[in-house]
Amino acid sequence: MNWQNDDRRKFIISSVQSVGLVATGGALLGGYVTKAKSSPLVLRPPAAINEEDFLTACVKCGLCAEACKNRDSNIDRSSGKHKEATLKIATAGDERLIGTPYFLPLEIPCFMCPDIPCVPVCPSGALDIKSVLNKKKELDINQAKMGLAVVDRESCIAYWGIQCDACYRACPLLDKAITLEYQKNERTGKHAYLLPIVHSDACTGCGLCEQACVTEKPAIFVLPLDIAKGKVGSHYVKGWDAKDQNRVKDAQILESKTGINKESALDYLNSKDEF
Ligand code: SF4
Ligand code: SF4
Ligand code: SF4
Repeated sequence: MNWQNDDRRKFIISSVQSVGLVATGGALLGGYVTKAKSSPLVLRPPAAINEEDFLTACVKCGLCAEACKNRDSNIDRSSGKHKEATLKIATAGDERLIGTPYFLPLEIPCFMCPDIPCVPVCPSGALDIKSVLNKKKELDINQAKMGLAVVDRESCIAYWGIQCDACYRACPLLDKAITLEYQKNERTGKHAYLLPIVHSDACTGCGLCEQACVTEKPAIFVLPLDIAKGKVGSHYVKGWDAKDQNRVKDAQILESKTGINKESALDYLNSKDEF
């Protein structure tokens, strides 16, 4: 079994727990560890609701894992036997709540089945079918957000200038979830880098790229979304956007209707007198 990346995820969990030791003191340790374990770096099936709610919603019936095991492409045509499935059920000793489903992309990624058999069977709402429906209300695995692939630029050999597109080729959403970005190699002046770039709006977290990576320990790997992504915070305001444009339009309509020029905060800030 190849478990290097799972070890890496576990290491991050144990680091979180050690920080908790210092920060909260012994009295709170029990509660803190329980909390940390309830939000580990675990990858859940497609359509799983957020980890905290998932842990209470999942009734540990194993139907999702069963459906994953029984999916058509998981049956060996020559022998008629089931291959090992993507979804596993946590057992004692795992860093996960016993009985809950998870997957390890490096061992067996999610194959992004178009009919997503693991989701409709869930009786508890722990897997929310609505989250994997497209605009036409059809099941659409491309809507899944199991996690987000991140690239370790230090160990990705494409960043060393060595030609490699293994992750790019493995991605079912090629040129959407991963693109290859051309960059001139300033050192040699003659060569180019072709760098894999993951796009969070399209990446489903299936992990096919992690499994395909050629480095000894994958240089691209999937993390849960809330771990992989930062959070800006409400005190930062993004630059001019469509909402601002609409506010200006609304103000203009108001002015044309009422004849009153209500100077908005935006107009005030953009006034040339202020510079
Ligand atoms: S979509 Fe992924 S997790 Fe669900 S049945 Fe297919 S391989 Fe298994
Ligand atoms: S089918 Fe739903 S409730 Fe049952 S184990 Fe899977 S996620 Fe949990
Ligand atoms: S996890 Fe990797 S292979 Fe899967 S969609 Fe994201 S970039 Fe593509």
